[in-house]
Amino acid sequence: FEENKKKADAYLARFRIDGVLNHIAGEAVPALDGATFETISPVDLQPLAPVAHGKAADIDRAAKAASKAFPAWAAMPGDARKALLHKIADAIVARAEEIAFIECMDTGQSLKFMAKAALRGAENFRFFADRAPEARDGKSIRIPGQVNVTTRNPIGPVGVITPWNTPFMLSTWKIAPALAAGCTIVHKPAEFSPLTARLLVEIAESAGLPKGVWNLVNGLGEDAGKALTEHPLIKAIGFVGESRTGSMIMKQGADTLKRVHFELGGKNPVIVFADADLERAADAAVFMIYSLNGERCTSSSRLLVEDSIYGKFTEMVAERAKRIKVGHPLDPQTVVGPLIHPVHERKVLEYVEIGKAEGATVAAGGYKVDGPGGGCYVAPTLFTSADNGMRIAQEEIFGPVLTAIPFKDEADALKIANDVQYGLTGYLWTSDVTRAFRLTDQLEAGMIWVNSENVRHLPTPFGGVKNSGIGRDGGDWSFDFYMETKNIAFAT
Ligand code: NAD
Repeated sequence: FEENKKKADAYLARFRIDGVLNHIAGEAVPALDGATFETISPVDLQPLAPVAHGKAADIDRAAKAASKAFPAWAAMPGDARKALLHKIADAIVARAEEIAFIECMDTGQSLKFMAKAALRGAENFRFFADRAPEARDGKSIRIPGQVNVTTRNPIGPVGVITPWNTPFMLSTWKIAPALAAGCTIVHKPAEFSPLTARLLVEIAESAGLPKGVWNLVNGLGEDAGKALTEHPLIKAIGFVGESRTGSMIMKQGADTLKRVHFELGGKNPVIVFADADLERAADAAVFMIYSLNGERCTSSSRLLVEDSIYGKFTEMVAERAKRIKVGHPLDPQTVVGPLIHPVHERKVLEYVEIGKAEGATVAAGGYKVDGPGGGCYVAPTLFTSADNGMRIAQEEIFGPVLTAIPFKDEADALKIANDVQYGLTGYLWTSDVTRAFRLTDQLEAGMIWVNSENVRHLPTPFGGVKNSGIGRDGGDWSFDFYMETKNIAFAT
């Protein structure tokens, strides 16, 4: 652990000296007006680095660079693009430790999970790299007197806007398919955790990505983010973040008729029936809310438990929650690290107070932890005796806080599960297969796991319904977003 801290310090040193610069047309550059903002570490609230504070003029430069680079990048044969994206994946793997340590110190996510973040990022590149050669292929439809040929072309320069929770992995998830499709990019990362976005573009260019294909502008949502969504050269916005930000982006992009793809918030239910394997269900429920500090869009933040086992099952969960190690993100034993920022910590602790005031019982946690460095540590928290009308059951807390609600029967479980504005994921635990079919058919969610925690398989669609999103990523769905479909009809 002490060794890890020393290594992290060494990796962070260059950011302290150079700051987190923007990256436009292949050059690391400060903001045009020279402005910066500080990013702090959630471990000790100390500044990590000054960050270039880009605004509309910086976005304009980046959009022009992406536009200039587009024709050559779009014209590159799919096989060549595939080879290059694999080189980027190799370069990510070669710097996996640096990425993990910097991500831990910038986000507060524990090394236990971040150690794999870089490898998952590399996997995202490899997955879409392999599909690049066929991305343009369509199909032909033949009728008497006519043959229709359908093809796809990259839509143009696109904007990618990402959140702070797992910035490295999420950036690769959005950017790799855009590059594989033949689009060029302007990336605006989240202001709370901008460090690894800088590494990522640097890694991509060191692997041979042509200048201007990938541009990075740091800044705040209301200036750099807004300008990106309004820029006429940017044809589409891939966005991951809060639902209300998605709604703003839709309005901002209206004048330029932006195509949008939204991965938004969630208040995801894990539904546990009495006939389930309760030990496995308890492990999975605990993993899905407390891993990644609960700062995870797919977290199972509502625990719906059948009446007959409610007391027993919530005790199993409480007992596990109390055993979770909260600590320094670089300590290999840590599961829950500090939350991203004091502002977010305040929000999470306010919800704890709201839950108590609403009459729910704190069965585990419910307090700030005095952790190493004095940062934003919050104990894994479980509320019992809750009902679905409470704010702690309706609103996305985005922290290690779980709300357990009893249900009577299948119909009641379904009603409670669907009674929220969100619909990202659902988790169902039962040994009754016919019930699983009935329930999953009616559950309002884009992704459902039966008798499992969230295990991602990249070719499957990822996305939400209701206020949780618009569109799907993964497999060919990502290409559908980043490409235009064209039909050519030949008379025969
Ligand atoms: P956020 O919406 O506050 O910010 C996300 C990004 O949008 C940031 O880069 C921010 O600067 C930018 N932004 C803010 N206002 C903007 C504007 N007006 N125009 C353009 N850009 C703007 O979200 P956050 O707090 O960074 O992240 C947490 C949220 O992300 C949670 O709601 C979580 O559920 C969601 N999330 C969703 C998924 C998913 O796949 N569905 C994955 C991870 C996180």
